[in-house]
Amino acid sequence: MDVKLFESLALSFFPEETIQFFNDGIQFGFNNKITKEINKIGYSVNLTTDIIKQALDNGVDLILTHHNIWEDHFEMREDCLKLLSENDIIHFFNHLPLDSMPFGPSGALAKALNLQVIKRISQFDIFYFGVVGEYKQSLTLDEFSNKVEQVLKHKVRVWKNNDQMVKRVGVVSGSGKDLESLHDAINNNCDVYVTGEKSLTTLLYAKHQKLNFVLGSHTFTELGGIRNYANLIKTNSNLKVIELQDEWIE
Ligand SMILES: [Zn+2]
Repeated sequence: MDVKLFESLALSFFPEETIQFFNDGIQFGFNNKITKEINKIGYSVNLTTDIIKQALDNGVDLILTHHNIWEDHFEMREDCLKLLSENDIIHFFNHLPLDSMPFGPSGALAKALNLQVIKRISQFDIFYFGVVGEYKQSLTLDEFSNKVEQVLKHKVRVWKNNDQMVKRVGVVSGSGKDLESLHDAINNNCDVYVTGEKSLTTLLYAKHQKLNFVLGSHTFTELGGIRNYANLIKTNSNLKVIELQDEWIE
C-alpha cells in the first residue's frame, strides 16, 4: 500500500466534518512522509525514540500513534524526527479526531470497564471527548478501582469523596483534568470520575462536589482507542499490524 492509499484508508473511519474541522496539520497527519511501500504498521499512544527503535527491530514501515511528537519537546522532537528519517520510517498520528469518536479512547475504556454508555460529555465545539457510562449492578469503589487496574494493567490512585456505590461513571481518557469535564460528570450524577491526568484544582473541585476521583495514566487510559483504530485499519486492508509497547511512567 502506498502512503496516499494509507492516508485515505486511515481517514475513512471519520466523518468528513471531523476531518475538515481538525485539519490544521497538528491534530492528524504525517511526520517523515516519504514515498515507500507500507506493509507493516506498529501502533502506540506516544512516539518516543524507544518506540521508533521497537518499530525498527520489528520491520515496521509506519508507526501509528495517538499523539503527535510534542511541538515543544526540544531535543526529544529533533531526535525522534532524526531517527524516523535515518531509518525511513513513516509516522502517522491521529489525536483529536480519534478522541471524538465512539471507538476512540474514552469509548474504548468505558467498554473495557463493561460500562453501558448513556451520554457523551467533555464537549469541544460539536465534538465530545468523554462519556458517561452506567453499570446494571453497582460496585463498591474498591471493586471499581480494581477493575480499572485490571484494564490499565497498572496501579491507580483513588480519592474517595463519597460513600456511594458506583453505578454511574464519568470517563475522560487521557487528559481529563479540565473542570468543565468534571462539571459535566457532576451534572450527570456520576458517582465516580476516571481519567489520566490530575491537577490541584481538579482534586479540590472533586472533593468539594463529593465526586470520587480515580486517576489512571494518560497513556494507558488511551491505549484502547488507538488499538481499536489500528484494528479497523487491519480489518480493512492486508497490512500487518503489531502493538508497540508504551512504557508506564506516570
Ligand atoms: Zn492524549
